[in-house]
Amino acid sequence: MTASIIDGKAFAQQLRARVAEHVARLKRQGITPGLAVVLVGEDPASQVYVRNKGRQTVEAGMASFEHRLDAATSQDELLSLIARLNADPAVHGILVQLPLPRGLNAEAVINAIDPAKDVDGFHILNVGRLATGQRAMVPCTPLGCLMLLRDRLGDLSGAEAVVVGRSNIVGKPMAQLLLRENCTVTIAHSRTRDLPQTCRRADILVAAVGRPEMIRGDWIKPGATVIDVGINRVPAPDKGPDKTRLVGDVHFAEAVEAAGAITPVPGGVGPMTIACLLANTLTACCRAHGLPEPE
Ligand code: NDP
Repeated sequence: MTASIIDGKAFAQQLRARVAEHVARLKRQGITPGLAVVLVGEDPASQVYVRNKGRQTVEAGMASFEHRLDAATSQDELLSLIARLNADPAVHGILVQLPLPRGLNAEAVINAIDPAKDVDGFHILNVGRLATGQRAMVPCTPLGCLMLLRDRLGDLSGAEAVVVGRSNIVGKPMAQLLLRENCTVTIAHSRTRDLPQTCRRADILVAAVGRPEMIRGDWIKPGATVIDVGINRVPAPDKGPDKTRLVGDVHFAEAVEAAGAITPVPGGVGPMTIACLLANTLTACCRAHGLPEPE
């Protein structure tokens, strides 16, 4: 039996449409949610991400404020921009595109963002709130993964969940969210002794490693739900010289024979990230105005 494919692209489209509807209602009350994105330097991948974020923000009816700064920007200059955005009532969400150029301290910059406007959920206060079960801004990629899981599985209580990867932006917050859903959570990483055997325990397997097709089909418990966060560009000589393709951290062709459901790459988790960023900005705006939060 082959797995059913979890269509993150379609789910993200529906989520963006719900956000846009809510934004239209707010605008009728004279409120326009606003997202400020700060890009320092010329990293090509970051430029693409920032462009996409800006486009989708505007498509959802929100105000998009883009701040593109020179790679030579000093820490003080960046911090004073963050202070201005913190104080600006038209800005409900602030996102600093990572990685920052060398010489800038990302941790200090992130922690200078007003936690109420920290739509990436990376501020230490939001990390602590999530870990202690308080109302937090939740990082976009794991939030998107959780939405896909809940849509597919409903109640996650009691499920064995294995998260491969322990980064602050994906692995750790993913594990916290699954714990909040009453899963039994294992976090695996590069020092895990027997990774294949650990993965075989999982009813829910989340891969956030950054290694192309590392997780093989025989690591997957039959019927498991597999969420592949990885985005890896690899050579594709079959498509022509110098051609590339995107693959996940899971060997899709093998995994699809074992899993019950699986996210593809591309078209799985990827589109959910920006959709969740828009949803977080909307949430931040509603909270700032003391309005009920969107479902
Ligand atoms: P990081 O490099 O920050 O973290 C990778 C994690 O994988 C680390 O915890 C590392 O362990 C672990 N790891 C590395 N090698 C192995 C191994 N051989 N066995 C087991 N664990 C291993 O990556 P990110 O969390 O930022 O991203 C992970 C992937 O997700 C990347 O492909 C990235 O492109 C993608 N991504 C996708 C997003 C989306 O929108 N879909 C958003 C963000 C990321 P250790 O801590 O021990 O070093």
